[in-house]
Amino acid sequence: MSTIEQISEHIWIMHACHDTDRPILAAISGAKRTLLIDAGNSPTHAALFRQELQRHGVRQPEILVLTHWHWDHTFAMSEWNLPSIAQAETAHALRKLISQDWSDAAMEQLFEQQIINESTMANIKKEYGGNRNMIRIVEPDILFQESITIDLGGVTCEVNHVGGDHAIDSCYVYVKEDQTLFLGDALGPSVYGGPRSYTASSFLRLLRQAYAYNAQLFVESHGRPMDRAGFQKELGDWEQLAQFTEKYGQDRDRIAKEMSTYLQVPELPHEFSKALEWFMVGAAKE
Ligand SMILES: [Zn+2]
Repeated sequence: MSTIEQISEHIWIMHACHDTDRPILAAISGAKRTLLIDAGNSPTHAALFRQELQRHGVRQPEILVLTHWHWDHTFAMSEWNLPSIAQAETAHALRKLISQDWSDAAMEQLFEQQIINESTMANIKKEYGGNRNMIRIVEPDILFQESITIDLGGVTCEVNHVGGDHAIDSCYVYVKEDQTLFLGDALGPSVYGGPRSYTASSFLRLLRQAYAYNAQLFVESHGRPMDRAGFQKELGDWEQLAQFTEKYGQDRDRIAKEMSTYLQVPELPHEFSKALEWFMVGAAKE
């Protein structure tokens, strides 16, 4: 069950739900209007947030911004039916999916073409059940390349294209007055187009860009909001792993050894050995 929470003066979020990979949805309320960050993964997901906002007396969203094109962030766009803002590549990716059929056979094909992965396929089936013919993909209305600023009335949202491994169209959304940074999934590895991969240089760049904001609250789409110290602590070890990868390239054993020494453990914990594999895929590409 998703829960809704006010995380700062102007921001309400509905928490992520891992059952069917529902990301965080956020409503940013200014004096003039409310901005929705990400549409959600289904009409049901969107309707739940709308109900919860109503229950808490929060002004309903009047404009939508997307962090990137992935299904879990965009498939509910038709349910909201709002003017929508997106990076040009987000529109491009969604346009390609407009006439897509989401039957089992069609999804198998998308999977073979590496346009979606196994967990996406399973989650779409779980979220929609037999109602996959109701999936209706919508093209965004307002496109930008690098950045766009949205004035909600006393609340300013800066949307910046950052790209990275996870999706080339990934954007950060910074709510200036609330010193809150929405990172979407930008810090994640690539999930489509072959084995998961992390590029050390691009991961480190994304981190530098995140820290460059004067943010006190950091919100990753599938995580829990973190304060600055918590975010730095959470990301510190990953940053170290990326730095070792930059230094030692494809020398997996050396990186594992350096990282274990750094963590003061005899053997690399599972989450880091998994991530090291992703970094090795990235290092081979670089
Ligand atoms: Zn994503």
